[in-house]
This record gives sequence, structure tokens and C-alpha cells, in this order.
Amino acid sequence: PPPEYYSSGTTFPSTPVDKFDKIVATARATFLSGRTRSLSWRKEQLRALYRMLDENSDAIIQAVQRDFGKPTTEAFMVEVILNLNHIVYCLKNIDKWTKPDHPEKGLMELGADLSIRHEPYGVSLIIAPWNYPWALIVKPLTCALTAGNVAICKPSELTPNCAALMGELFPKYLDRDAIFLVNGGVKQTVALLEKRFDHITFTGSTAVGKIIMAAATRHLTPVILELGGKSPVVIDPELSPADIARAGTRIVATKFFNSGQTCIAPDYILCPPHLLEPLAVAMREAVVRFYGQDPSSSPDLSRIVNRNHTRRIGMLIDQQKEEEGSVVVVGGNWDENKCFIEPTIIAGVDAYGPLMSQEIFGPVLPILESQSLNEAIDFIRERERPLALYIFTKNKATAEKIHGAAISGSVVINDATLQYGADSAPFGGVGHSGMGCLHGKYGFLSFSHQKTVLHKPLDWISEQIFENTGRYPPYTSKGLSR
Ligand code: NAD
Repeated sequence: PPPEYYSSGTTFPSTPVDKFDKIVATARATFLSGRTRSLSWRKEQLRALYRMLDENSDAIIQAVQRDFGKPTTEAFMVEVILNLNHIVYCLKNIDKWTKPDHPEKGLMELGADLSIRHEPYGVSLIIAPWNYPWALIVKPLTCALTAGNVAICKPSELTPNCAALMGELFPKYLDRDAIFLVNGGVKQTVALLEKRFDHITFTGSTAVGKIIMAAATRHLTPVILELGGKSPVVIDPELSPADIARAGTRIVATKFFNSGQTCIAPDYILCPPHLLEPLAVAMREAVVRFYGQDPSSSPDLSRIVNRNHTRRIGMLIDQQKEEEGSVVVVGGNWDENKCFIEPTIIAGVDAYGPLMSQEIFGPVLPILESQSLNEAIDFIRERERPLALYIFTKNKATAEKIHGAAISGSVVINDATLQYGADSAPFGGVGHSGMGCLHGKYGFLSFSHQKTVLHKPLDWISEQIFENTGRYPPYTSKGLSR
């Protein structure tokens, strides 16, 4: 049976706003004590985070299912396994990453020691959305801890079961004076942003990202913004029918994972006219193969997070159906009461269709006709820079040409969304899809201030060099003056 959907009726465990001052002060005192800088503390906390996820994986999966009916396998894969892998990767490399770098020296640094130290910023604030409630708290937290920061984490109010479970597990496993969970919605987040932090990581919508950045300017706090947008898929006109069938299967598998509630999910397809029909057929077949003739009874299809979002996406489908030329390839039905939307693909969508008016963030995929690769490139360049760009081609030069011209946060060729699992590569957006990056070494560096330390000797010889090379005034007496 499909996972039961329990979200309504759960009381959200908000943290009282009057506790924020104490939380931030305790976090700051812990950081200033120096204890979080030691590698042993960092490793201990990373191991504790691992144990928290590992020992409670059943409860975590159940909480995500209660919040929005996420299929067990999808919850286990993204909320548990990918987090565990990332923690292990950071633990494996922390000794190497935290060592000072020794950059090349110039004439002015001769005889000196020049190094770059990766210093923790201090008190970091991590704000997350609802679509992957554990992953989008735990991955940035892993980077923050690897870099020796203390952290205050704020999950989304739209996933109350996960928020409640985090509230229970965090103090049980993690250093209570260094890693805090604050629960709440807009009111609590706005109050939190009044406080002073040394670093803010925000994952969420572009609109709220702007609010976060504006709040951060008050204290000149550095930010990582992991935002959203419309990630395009470009189909090479040269693909054969067999290639198109494979492409269609991969697009369907990645688009309808978590019912399209993924920041890097393919948002729309730009397809050459002669491949529209084979692509539509391949994708319809894949939808039926994956979710059956009646997707509402599939245990592998997530529900939508709440009624508001269901209505928003459902209305977009209905409006798009009314548009001239729109053809429903598959799906098209939705039920607000059950927070359910059929996996839906609509062809014949134009650049101004309702589905192109906003990030879809649901199980609806429009196909737009694109006459040539150049037209596809122009289409992408005329819009805000997307978080991800997907290209289906067998020609390397074609792939290079497209992503060389159309700027995006990341690129995947012949698949989609897999870049999220690459712990060794940076994950982040550009322009309206965000700034800064997370994951692995890049996440560690994002949570660190790169401090230059130039250490000169204070001996007789170095002083003689200064005296004789004209470093000190009066400059005219030494021959180095202009
Ligand atoms: P959201 O922006 O509505 O909310 C995110 C967080 O901000 C929540 O914790 C929420 O409580 C808080 N918030 C909401 N309104 C606020 C306000 N006015 N002031 C202060 N805080 C506020 O986003 P969402 O609906 O939870 O998530 C969906 C969005 O997140 C999509 O745009 C998606 O693309 C994006 N996203 C991006 C990534 C990424 O890694 N780039 C990952 C997941 C989701």
C-alpha cells in the first residue's frame, strides 16, 4: 500500500523566541572556549552524527513518511545513506583538509614562512527547506562540524514529524552546548536572523534567499545560498530512437523521484520537433512501468508536502491544459485532499505557458519545442541562471558547446540529479540559483575563513636585508626609489 499521509494534525514543536538569546550566547561561548577547533572534537561529533542517523534510520524514514508520504527507498537513500556516505568521506579526509596550505612565495616573503590556515568562522546558522528534511540539515552541518564551527539548525515547519524527531535526537547524540536545533516558521526565522551569526547557510527558495541575504548584511555575515529555479533539459537533435528511449527513462526516473520536489529536478525539456513523439512515447512508457496504470496506488510515488502546494501545482496543470496546443502525454489529475498529483507530462507548452511562469517543484514536466541547439542555448541564457543543466547527447563537443554557453550551477550529461551524490565535487548554484557551495572539501572550505599567516624571522640577517634593499625610508638613499 502507499505510505500513509499523516501530516495534518501534528503539532509543530516551535522553540520559544525568548530562548534564542541564550542559545546564541551558549553557542558563542562554546566556540570561544576553543574546544570545537580540536580535530578530536570534530571527529567525535561527526561520528555521533553518523550514529544518530544509523541507529535511528527506521524512525527517520517513518517521520519523513508521516510528513509527506515519501517512499521508503527514496527516504532511506537520500535522508540516510547519502548523509552517512558524506560523513564518512569527511572523516576520511579531515586530517588532510585541515592541514595548512603553503602557497608559492614571492620575493617579499623570502626567508619567511607563508601559510594559509583554514579557520572555523564560529557560530553558524543553518536554515533548511522541507523537501529533504534530514539531508538539507545534515549535509551543511557535516561541513560546518568538519570545519570546527558550532551550529544552530532550523528545519522547515512544513515537516513537523522530522522537526520533532530532530529535536529529540540532537541533544541525545551531539554536543548540547555546540549544536542546537531551533524549530519554527517565518516568525522564528525572522527573530533568529536578528541575532548575530558568523556564517549563514540557507537552502530554500530564491525569494526567501533574498530576505536572508538582506538580513545578513546587517552584520556583514557571509552566506551560502542554496536556492531553486528552473533546471532545463536539452535534447540533441542527433539522438537515435534508441538513445531517446534511454534518455526518456532517465528523465522520468529523476523527475518523479520525491514527486519532483527536488531543487535539481528537471523542470522543463527543450526538444527538437522530430524527436517530440518518440520522447513522449518513451516517457509515458517509463511512467507506467515505474508507477503502474494507477500511480495513486504506487508505494514508490511521494505525496506533495501539503494541500497548498498540491493546489498550486494542480492549478498550474489545469491552466496549462487550457492553453492552445497543450497535449497531456500522461497524467494530469490531482487530488488536493490526498495531497496527490499524478506524474504528469505535458507537450506543446510555449515559453509563456503557466508551467513556465515559476519553478514547478512537483511531478509535472513540460516539453517545449526547440528548433535548434542554438535556439535552446538562447532560451536558457535569456532566463535566470539555473541550479542545474541536463544535456542528452552522444557528442562531447555538443555537450561542451551547450554548457560552455549556458551558465548553470552544475551540469549532468545523459542523466540528471546524480551530481548531488558526488561528495568530492562542489554543490551549489549561480546567480538566482544561489551562491557558495557545499559538500566535501568545498563545503569544508565554505565554512572556513582562509587566514594568511606570514611569519618573518626577527633576526640580525633579515634586518640587514631590509636595511640594504631600501625597504625603510628615507627611500631616496637606497636606490630602490622611483
Ligand atoms: P522556503 O524558502 O519557503 O523555506 C525555506 C526555509 O526558510 C524554511 O525553513 C522556512 O521556515 C524559512 N522561511 C520561509 N519564509 C521565510 C521568510 N519570509 N523569512 C524568513 N524565513 C523564511 O523554501 P521551501 O518551500 O521550504 O523549499 C523549496 C525551495 O527550496 C525550492 O525553491 C527549491 O528549489 C529550494 N531548494 C534548494 C536546494 C538547493 O540545494 N539549492 C535544495 C532544496 C530545496
